[in-house]
Amino acid sequence: MSRIRLVVASLIALGLCMPGFPVAVAADDEIKLTFLGTGAPRPSHERYGPAILVEAGNYKIMVDAGPGMRERLFQAGGFEMLTDVDHLLITHLHFDHTISAPGLWLTGWLFGRKVPMNVYGPEGTAAMMKNFEAAYDWDIRYRKIVGVHARGAELLATDVGPGVFFNKDGLKITAFNVEHLPIDLDTGEELGLEGATLGYRIDYGGRSVLFSGDTRSTPSTQIIPMGQDLDVLIHETQVPAPGDSPEAKLANVSLSVHSTPAQVAYVFEKTKPRLGVYSHIIPPEIKSDELLGMTDYDGEMLVAEDLMTLTIGDVIIVGRAEGAGTDIFTDADVVDQ
Ligand SMILES: [Zn+2]
Repeated sequence: MSRIRLVVASLIALGLCMPGFPVAVAADDEIKLTFLGTGAPRPSHERYGPAILVEAGNYKIMVDAGPGMRERLFQAGGFEMLTDVDHLLITHLHFDHTISAPGLWLTGWLFGRKVPMNVYGPEGTAAMMKNFEAAYDWDIRYRKIVGVHARGAELLATDVGPGVFFNKDGLKITAFNVEHLPIDLDTGEELGLEGATLGYRIDYGGRSVLFSGDTRSTPSTQIIPMGQDLDVLIHETQVPAPGDSPEAKLANVSLSVHSTPAQVAYVFEKTKPRLGVYSHIIPPEIKSDELLGMTDYDGEMLVAEDLMTLTIGDVIIVGRAEGAGTDIFTDADVVDQ
């Protein structure tokens, strides 16, 4: 059994992964991840839409805003966590990565966040956020009139392209292109949709984590060059539907813009992260053991579950976030003093 799986096994054996156990706080040179949603567009009780919280130093950064993110965040860390997140990275503009952006922005504000929400994403992100602002203009004006503070209602969105776009307090965030735009199934050529789809690499305190975003697996993907000397590589995956029924054929059309478990294993092989992680799992009902059985990658890897945490330090500790923070709202600190 691999070292990482041994750590998981021993934590489970010790009961440390049980709900209600205090959530580990990341040290100064650690990155902590909380998987809030490990599924994709299809609704699932077990796997909510894609969203991963990154805690590094004083920063709390959400990567993607899939369905149910707000509820999972509240489940993991109560009002404290809901109001602390003020950075959001969007990998691309599909609804399963963006639909909870207004939920995070507005709920965090209403219950105490007094700084603007900063959003970064590919071309079109700033326009989408402007549309969210327009859509909720009445709500925002209403709450300001009755006394909710103003600053936390601000939404500061920036379109970013490949390269380093954030470098502060020892936290560096790099965007890179991945390949998720629709293609002609016969020729492999892109069908002309504008825009871009991104992956991100976050470096902090000598630790690093890479998010693949949604991507097909091709030799030209930037994940392999961006994934060198990496602690944790989080990669999406789609399991091919068996058979050749019309339903299976339709499901498998999207394999042209996603990566099979074996293709992800190839990326792990070429990058050799300390830990490879499958998340954004299609279909969401696939069990972890089934998925692990679909690859012969022999390095450290696991399948993410909703509310799983990874604390990335000298060792990588797997845990579970639930029940931390305050879940009954008693604090009236939502107005300007
Ligand atoms: Zn997706």
